[in-house]
Amino acid sequence: MYNNVLVAVDLSNDSQKVIDTAVRMAKGGASKLQLVHVVEPVAAAYSMDIYAVNVSELQQEAINYAEQRLEKIGAELEIDGDHLHTIMGAPAPEIRNLANELGCDAIVIGSHGHSGWKILLGSTAIKVLHGSTCDVLTVHVGDDE
Ligand code: AMP
Repeated sequence: MYNNVLVAVDLSNDSQKVIDTAVRMAKGGASKLQLVHVVEPVAAAYSMDIYAVNVSELQQEAINYAEQRLEKIGAELEIDGDHLHTIMGAPAPEIRNLANELGCDAIVIGSHGHSGWKILLGSTAIKVLHGSTCDVLTVHVGDDE
């Protein structure tokens, strides 16, 4: 049983399974969870004038959307607003750093059964595991080819 669990939520259909497992692992259930979603920076290439795309607007929209989705999930589980984190950056290092900052004793993260050439690319779960200073639990969320 863990007292302060960081749950990595990618907002895909797999998220519920990851969260359900975290609820079962946390001493006292959902109240001991912190949810994080990391918004990846919009590729700089799109900022080229020819695409006529306002990158900062797009970025802000992505952040707003993620915040709303996380708030909805948090409300369903009665998780305190302070325990919902939407941050920008590269998912794995941000998840690891946040777990450190918050003094989490475990990270719960989804894992696809990567096989073949996809192993070389590495999953978010493996990247989080490397260098993590707390326990990391991976939840099997489905197989990839
Ligand atoms: P992957 O195998 O790289 O697709 O990562 C799967 C798991 O990593 C998801 O189930 C989440 O737990 C976590 N994850 C991936 N991307 C993010 C993200 N942007 N923010 C938070 N967690 C993420």
